[in-house]
Amino acid sequence: MTVINNIKKMDKPNAKGMVKNVLEQFNNAANHINLHPNIRKILSITNNEIIVNFPVKMDNGEVEIFQGYRVQHNNALGPYKGGLRYHPTVDIDAARALAMWMTWKTSLAGLPYGGGKGGIQIDPSKYSQNELERITRRFTYALGDNIGPEHDIPAPDVNTNAQTMAWMSDTYMSTKAPAERSKNLHVVTGKPIGSGGLDGRDRATGYGVYLTVKFWIEQQGDTLKNKTFIVQGFGNVGYWAAYFLESDGAKLIGVQDAYGSITNSKGIPVNDLFLYTQNNHGSLVGYPEAYAIEHDDFFALDCHICVPAALGNQITENNAHLIKASLIAEGANGPINVEGEKILLERNITIIPDILCNSGGVIASYFEWLQNRNGEIWQIEDVIDKLEKKIKNSFDSVSAFAKSENIDLRKSAYCIAIKRIEKAYVQRGIFP
Ligand code: NAD
Repeated sequence: MTVINNIKKMDKPNAKGMVKNVLEQFNNAANHINLHPNIRKILSITNNEIIVNFPVKMDNGEVEIFQGYRVQHNNALGPYKGGLRYHPTVDIDAARALAMWMTWKTSLAGLPYGGGKGGIQIDPSKYSQNELERITRRFTYALGDNIGPEHDIPAPDVNTNAQTMAWMSDTYMSTKAPAERSKNLHVVTGKPIGSGGLDGRDRATGYGVYLTVKFWIEQQGDTLKNKTFIVQGFGNVGYWAAYFLESDGAKLIGVQDAYGSITNSKGIPVNDLFLYTQNNHGSLVGYPEAYAIEHDDFFALDCHICVPAALGNQITENNAHLIKASLIAEGANGPINVEGEKILLERNITIIPDILCNSGGVIASYFEWLQNRNGEIWQIEDVIDKLEKKIKNSFDSVSAFAKSENIDLRKSAYCIAIKRIEKAYVQRGIFP
């Protein structure tokens, strides 16, 4: 195991696009609020970067070595919090950028958390369910006490889900003395309901995406009725966002996933497409009620709302000029790069930034953590109600600050998030 403490600057020249993106967004906001230079230094780098190499026995008896990452960006406001991703694009840079985004997100939402992120660089579709279980358990074991219910609390992200979290919590708890096990249940959130999970956690991120879109549309004196939208990524976030937008009268007219892109201007029924993908190895390819289109034509589809809910850096200087939507709701983390954003803002396209738009997931994770910590079982109605209040609160502050300072929503969200962390540092000072 390698633990690197505070030694690597995140803005090194060969850092990948996402790190450059998140740092530029941070510095833009830091300049605007005149952030104290010492606090800027602290927030510009990650606290800890953990890389683990671990062996796993495959179904054919061979042993494969995997590399896993956990980056802990900042914990000024509380334990590190953030997802684990299983994807070929996962590396230390991706984990750094995503960890930093988590710090801003938890701060903006007013949660007692910092930011972390991690994962394994694998394509999980190449492994059997039994292999994925062994990979997850061995990864958890290798992370050891670098995670913990009051220290660093992972959650699901791309290609990980409630099952992954059940394996993680079980493995982590199994390494503790019998009398200590139950009090470690909240080492991860996003668990299945039967294993300490929160009723409603599955839909929380997509519901939050929908709410922020609804709040914005209402602010314009309009409603979602007959508004058209497209969704990139039809997984946890994309599906639930589409489900709630459709339930409120909007029409899904285009979807793109890792396998293909489809459109139908008459509308694509969300649950029908979902059932199709469930029976088609998770892919929308061949869906009979829509037409296949080229990958690069997807973002050019004519619609009111665009919801990127897949990976980072999807809307860039290469395709931002093609976007027809007047609103982009960032379901994914970092789906628009800085150059793409400049073009969109010049074209007067509104962007609901990721740290606000997809914060429903981490807010519900916080509820799950509280539920486990207090030995409670929360009802879904309470979860939805509390979630809605928190997201409305964040939306209203971001939108009011943007208006009062004449800045865009992303800069406003960052300013609010960074100011909260700055306050904690100013109050406490720097040890020793
Ligand atoms: P998921 O694994 O459930 O779904 C991902 C979807 O994206 C799948 O439909 C996949 O086919 C598609 N996809 C993958 N690569 C693609 C590509 N190159 N082009 C188009 N589509 C592609 O993941 P998820 O949990 O829905 O996460 C999606 C995004 O939302 C990620 O950026 C994640 O960080 C962010 N997010 C997730 C949560 C959460 O609670 N799950 C919370 C906040 C943010």
